Amino acid sequence: MRAVRRFTVRASLPEPLSGLRALATNLRWTWHPPTRDLFASIDAGLFNRFKDPLRLITALPPERLEELADDEDFLARFRAATDDLQRYLTEPRWYQRQGRLPAAVAYFSMEFGVTEALPNYSGGLGVLAADHLKAASDLGAPMIGVGLLYRAGYFRQALSLDGWQVEHYPVIDPIGLPLELLTDESGEPLRVSVAVPGGRDLHAQIWRAWVGRIPLLLMDSDTEGNDEDLRGVTDRLYGGDANHRIRQQILAGVGGVRAVRRYCALTGHPEPEVFHTNEGHAGFLGLERAREIVTAGGLEFDEALVPVRAGTVYTTHTPVPAGLDRFPVDLVQHYFGDGRLLPGIDVRTVLALGAEDNPGMFNMAHMGLRLSQRANGVSALHGRVSRTMFHRLWSDFDIDEVPISAVTNGVHGPTWVARELSALLDGDGDEHAGSRETVSDAQLWALRRDLREKLVSEVRRRVRDAWLQRGAAGLELGWTDSVFDPDVLTVGFARRVPTYKRLTLMLRDPERLRALLLDERRPIQIVVAGKSHPADEGGKALIQQIVRFVDDPAVRHRIVYLPDYDMAMARYLYRGCDVWLNNPTRPLEACGTSGMKSALNGGLNLSIRDGWWDEHYHPDFGWAIPTADGVADPLRRDDLESKALYDLLEMQIAPLFYDRGPDGTPAGWLSRVWETLERLGPKLQASRMVREYVEHYYRPAAETVAAAAADGYAGARSLAGYRTRIDTAWRRVIIHDTDLRVEAPDELVVGTDVRVSARVDLAGLEPSDVDVQAVVGRVGDSDDLLDPVTVPMQPAGIGLFEATLRLPHAGSLGYTVRVLPRHPLLASPAELGRVVFA
Ligand SMILES: *Cc1c(COP(=O)(O)O)cnc(C)c1O
Repeated sequence: MRAVRRFTVRASLPEPLSGLRALATNLRWTWHPPTRDLFASIDAGLFNRFKDPLRLITALPPERLEELADDEDFLARFRAATDDLQRYLTEPRWYQRQGRLPAAVAYFSMEFGVTEALPNYSGGLGVLAADHLKAASDLGAPMIGVGLLYRAGYFRQALSLDGWQVEHYPVIDPIGLPLELLTDESGEPLRVSVAVPGGRDLHAQIWRAWVGRIPLLLMDSDTEGNDEDLRGVTDRLYGGDANHRIRQQILAGVGGVRAVRRYCALTGHPEPEVFHTNEGHAGFLGLERAREIVTAGGLEFDEALVPVRAGTVYTTHTPVPAGLDRFPVDLVQHYFGDGRLLPGIDVRTVLALGAEDNPGMFNMAHMGLRLSQRANGVSALHGRVSRTMFHRLWSDFDIDEVPISAVTNGVHGPTWVARELSALLDGDGDEHAGSRETVSDAQLWALRRDLREKLVSEVRRRVRDAWLQRGAAGLELGWTDSVFDPDVLTVGFARRVPTYKRLTLMLRDPERLRALLLDERRPIQIVVAGKSHPADEGGKALIQQIVRFVDDPAVRHRIVYLPDYDMAMARYLYRGCDVWLNNPTRPLEACGTSGMKSALNGGLNLSIRDGWWDEHYHPDFGWAIPTADGVADPLRRDDLESKALYDLLEMQIAPLFYDRGPDGTPAGWLSRVWETLERLGPKLQASRMVREYVEHYYRPAAETVAAAAADGYAGARSLAGYRTRIDTAWRRVIIHDTDLRVEAPDELVVGTDVRVSARVDLAGLEPSDVDVQAVVGRVGDSDDLLDPVTVPMQPAGIGLFEATLRLPHAGSLGYTVRVLPRHPLLASPAELGRVVFA
C-alpha cells in the first residue's frame, strides 16, 4: 500500500528529558563531537544509521526513553551537554571584543548545506553559506541566515545499469527535520507575503533552524492560503523555468526582508544593519529595503538608495558571463509592472538597475552590483576575473580600479576536520594549531592510514549498494569486498559536473591511466563522485564515460565512481584521500573549497592553479598541474594538461608516497602533510574568512549606513543631491593646460620630484566636490599607463591644481591628470563610474 500523504509524529519525552529536543535541534551537534557522543550513547546502532539526533529520539521506543529518564549517569551527561551548549550560545566571543560592530547582519543565500540531516543544498555554494554561518556562530557574530526551504531539496543521484544518471526527488517533511515552524503571538504560523500578478499573493511560512547561535530562517510556500501553483514555488532547488526561478527569487529577496522584519519584531533579535547576499539570487532585497524607507515617508527613491547600497554586501561566485542569472525583461515587467509587489517603486527604475548589453534581458548580477556599495569575488584570482567581467559597469576606469575586491573562501574546520586528527593535534579544540614537535611522523602516518581505511570501507559499502541499485544480485558482488586497499595511494576527485570542471580529463589517455592504477610497485587508486545538473545531458554523458571505464573488471578494484555525492560522502573523501585532484579549465573555478577541506585533513592538493590554489599553491602543499593557458583548441589543451597530470602522478607523487624510511613512513610525504596542516590550514578556515568580512565589509558598511541615516537621513539626501549635481555637470568638466615641470630635464632619475599642474573647469562644482589627481606610470607601445602611481593635486588658485610627484619608475614614463567625484559616503572613487581625463 502507498501512503497518500506523509506526516511525522514527534516523540513524547518524559519530563527529565524535555530539553533533549533542543539539544538535538541545535545544529551545533554537527560540529561538536561531545554532543554527538551523548546521542550515540543512547543507541549507537540507531545513531549510526540516522546520523541525526532528532531522528534518533523520534525512533526510540518509549521504554528506552523511560529508562534514560531514570538513568542518573545519562542525566548528568545530558545536563553537562546542555550547560555547555548554553554557555556556547551566550558567552561573549571574538565579535564581542571588537568594539562597535553591526548589531546584526542578515545573510541571504538560495541554499544552505549545514548537514545532510537538512538536505537544503546542491553543492559548494550552499556548503559555503552554511560554513559562513557556523564560523559566524563560533566567532559570536550576530547573523541571521535567510533562504528557502525546498520540499524536495536537490535531487538524489543513482545510476542506471548502463551508467546514466537517474534523479530522485524524495519529498521531505519539515516536521521530521531539525526545524521549528515560527508562530506569532496568537499561535498562528508567522507568514510573509509578496504580491504576484493577477491580484494574487504568494504566502510563505517560516521555519527556523538553529546553527549554533545563528537563526536560519527558511521560507516555505507549501502553506495554507496559497493557490496550488504558488504552493509549488519552493518545491525544489534550481529546478523549473524562468518563471519559477523569478518567483523563488522574489520570495527570497523581498519576502526574505519581510521575514527578517517579522522575526526581529517577534523575538527582539536586533535588526540587521548589513545585508550580505551570497550570489545575486536574493538581489531584490535591496528594492524592498528602499521601498520600506520610501514608504516610511520623506525620502525619494534615489535618496533611499544611499543607505540601502551602503548596507549591502554582494559576493559574486560566477567567473563567466554565461553563468550570470538573467531574466527576460518582459518577465520582470510582468512581476513588478502593476506596482503591487513594491508599491511606490516605478518598474522602470527596477529595470534600469538590471540593465545589460542585451536590452531584452534583466541581469541579476548587474542589479546586485548597482544595489551594493561593496562587492567581492571569492579568491584573489576570481577578484581579478570579476573586475574584468564587470568592467563594463565602470568602463571609464582601468580594470584594476573596478571596485570589486576579493575575500577568499574558507571552510569550517570543526565541521570538516576528522575528529581523530583534531584530537591528535589539539585535543578537540575549535581550530587546530598543529604541533610537529609533539606528534611523531609515525603517529601522523598511522592516523592518515586509519582515515584512508575508513574511506576504503565506505567505498566498498557504497560500491556494493550502487550495484544492487543498478540491478546486480548480491551473489555477484563478492568482488566489492576487496575494492580499494588501505595502503594504496588514494586520489579523490569529487565535484559537480559542469564542463569546465573536466570530470573526464583523467580519461584522456585511458591506457596511461590504467598503467598508473595497476602499477605493481606503486599503484594508485582513484575515487570519483559528482552530480550533473538534471538538465545537463552533456554532463551526464561525462559521468557515463567514467562509469564505463570503472566498470571494467580489470580496473574496478582501483577506481570507483560513487553515486550521490553529498556532505555525508564528502566527509569520508576529504578525510581519507591522500591527494585531492582538481583540474578545471583555468580561470573558471571561482574558488573551489573541497581541496581546502582535504588540506585541513592533511591531504595534498594536485590542482590546476585556479581559484584558491592560485594564491596558496606552494610545493610544500602539493602540486600545480601546469595550465596550457592561451591554447585555444580545447582538445589540445586537454592533451597537454592531462599529460602533465599523468607525469606528475607517475614521476613525482607516487614515488614520494611510496618512498619509505626504516620505520615504514614516507618522510618526504609527511613533511608536506605537516606543512599543509600547519602553514596552509589556518588560511583556509572559514573563521579567517568571516573575520575578513567583518573587518573589511560589515564594519565599514554599518558605519556608512549610520552616516547616511543620521539626522533624518541628511547624509543620504546629501549624496543623492550630489549625484544629481554630478549628473548634470560632469559632461562639462574639462581639464586643460596640463603641465609637468622639471628642474633639470637631463638629470631625471627615479625618485626625482617633478611638479604637475593643470587647470580644471569644474562646470559649477566646488573644488571640494572632486578629487583631482596626477597619475604617472610606465608607457609601452600604447600610451596606456602601467603600474600607475596616483598623487592628489591641491587647489592653487582659481581653477588651478598642483602636485609634487616623485618619479616611481625608470624607463619610459607617462602621466595624466584626472578628476573624480568626491563625497564622504562613497566607498571607492570609482563607485559612480565617473572620471574625466586630461
Ligand atoms: C565542499 C563541497 C563542495 C564544493 O567543492 P568544490 O571544490 O567547490 O567543487 C561540493 N559539495 C559538497 C558536498 C561539499 O562539501
